[in-house]
Amino acid sequence: MVLKSRYSFPTPQVSLPSFVFESPTAQLPDCKAFISATEPEKHFLTLSDYRLYAQRLASGLLRLGLQPGDRVLLFSGNTLFFPTVVLGVIMAGGIFTGANPTYVTRELAYQLKDSGARYLICSEANLETGLAAAKEAGLGPDRIFIFDDGVATFEGKTTNTQTPAGSIRHWTALLDSPEQGKAYAWPDLKTDEELDRVIALNYSSGTTGVAKGVMITHRNYVANCSQMIYMSSQHPNYEAQRARQRLLCFLPMYHAMAQIIFVVNSPKQRVPVYMMPKFDFLEMLQCVQRFRITDLTLVPPVVVAMAKHPATRKFDLSSVERVASGAAPLGREVCAELEKLWPEGKVNVKQGWGMTEATCAVTLFHPNALSLSFSVGELAPNCEAQIVLDDEGKVEAKQGERGEIWVKAPNVMKGYWNKPAATKETLTTDGWLKTGDVAYVDKENNFFIVDRKKELIKVKGFQVAPAELEALLLDHPDVQDVAVIGVLNDGEEVPRAYIVPQSQEKATPAVAEDIKKWLAEKVSRAKRLDGGVHFIDAIPKNPSGKILRKVLREKAALEATKA
Ligand code: AMP
Repeated sequence: MVLKSRYSFPTPQVSLPSFVFESPTAQLPDCKAFISATEPEKHFLTLSDYRLYAQRLASGLLRLGLQPGDRVLLFSGNTLFFPTVVLGVIMAGGIFTGANPTYVTRELAYQLKDSGARYLICSEANLETGLAAAKEAGLGPDRIFIFDDGVATFEGKTTNTQTPAGSIRHWTALLDSPEQGKAYAWPDLKTDEELDRVIALNYSSGTTGVAKGVMITHRNYVANCSQMIYMSSQHPNYEAQRARQRLLCFLPMYHAMAQIIFVVNSPKQRVPVYMMPKFDFLEMLQCVQRFRITDLTLVPPVVVAMAKHPATRKFDLSSVERVASGAAPLGREVCAELEKLWPEGKVNVKQGWGMTEATCAVTLFHPNALSLSFSVGELAPNCEAQIVLDDEGKVEAKQGERGEIWVKAPNVMKGYWNKPAATKETLTTDGWLKTGDVAYVDKENNFFIVDRKKELIKVKGFQVAPAELEALLLDHPDVQDVAVIGVLNDGEEVPRAYIVPQSQEKATPAVAEDIKKWLAEKVSRAKRLDGGVHFIDAIPKNPSGKILRKVLREKAALEATKA
């Protein structure tokens, strides 16, 4: 049976820039969009500033020769101008792609090449990696621009940087004058063809294989954001609540979750976002107290830290009204522990579920519904789902029975960039997204995520693709065969490699340690083998050579009970 959200409404037929800013010239309310958590008085962007900077960037990119559909890659942590780059590229008709700022050269070079990026905007802090990756991808210094942490841009200290690769321009060289920016009118898109144009490539490994560019369109963003707003607006005091809202952002904006919530949704709702340059637990608590933050958007490790760390009780968190978590599973016990920070009944910790391939959210909580279990809520408006027991979607699960969730919705991606085979494996011809997540639904249509059928490992909310690590590990001289799975370490998922050594003499703790260290030099932090290296006689595979990860997961679970 196809389950449908109890809410439906027509998705606004507008482009993303028009959705956020109405039009290039509309009078916008006088409100702050992004505020530096370090220098809140000096460094902030009003909603009009946000639009104008994006217009100036769009105008500048077009002057430089940006063609429709050209990819611009931003390799940076969060800064006040991160959202400007996202919207500016999109206003100019380009495609935005953000890379994880912790990436090493190989990882960034892969994304540059895979997306075919024409320009790289790279943070000062990451310049060495950026230059090396750009060289590998064949991108000359004239195509690279330096992104600062926002302060230099505010203070006008925007000089070019001399590097061995040549002179690299500051990103503000891409900004046309405020007058030219004001005069730049992004195209008014209306037709289905126009609204289905790709505007972002958000990288995700999906159900199998390595990271792929998820093609997100104007319609996808507008649809998903409208669904979230529609659900929030079911609250009887929605308008009063919205007027009080203050958000804090420390989740990375290259990822779908922070992108939709902070780059699109908050400005659309005219709600200010205090931005931390990077995550620091104590500073985060300090910011909540100092800025009287009302809404916390968290990932499970932060929920756990807040619930357990004694420092949490030293801060005044009384301004908080809502706490939401996403990106990875979260148990109810820890939510209940966190809720004890506030008077009974004041804050109910809720989690949503979604994935990059669905722009972001697929399930949400009704604002009046209480989360009393590990449910991820109900279907977001305009979404349909079915729980299936087979790969073809012909056998449906009974109510309460576990199966893979398939989703159909206006927020489901257009496909994977330049990967028709992977797209075909993930999207059925009639538009169902095979999520690779295993779930059941209760009588009230609440969803419960219970397992993952896909390979993906989630480390502190970051995606880790086993296929990528396996390909690297096969290059190690002591490795004959390998399979990587996620295992639980102190309640957190981490990658573990099961390795068939080249010879039995190699199956020693010293070689295991050497392999771990060898891999650590080739990958970003989340991909390290913190779950260990275990030697095994043979990797379990099916007759066509596919790794039977389930067998390894069961083995790991058995080992854990014996330990
Ligand atoms: P990403 O595309 O990086 O957002 O990762 C999406 C995946 O994260 C989903 O397919 C799930 O496997 C996992 N995930 C996200 N939210 C939850 C949740 N609330 N509970 C369990 N798993 C989740």
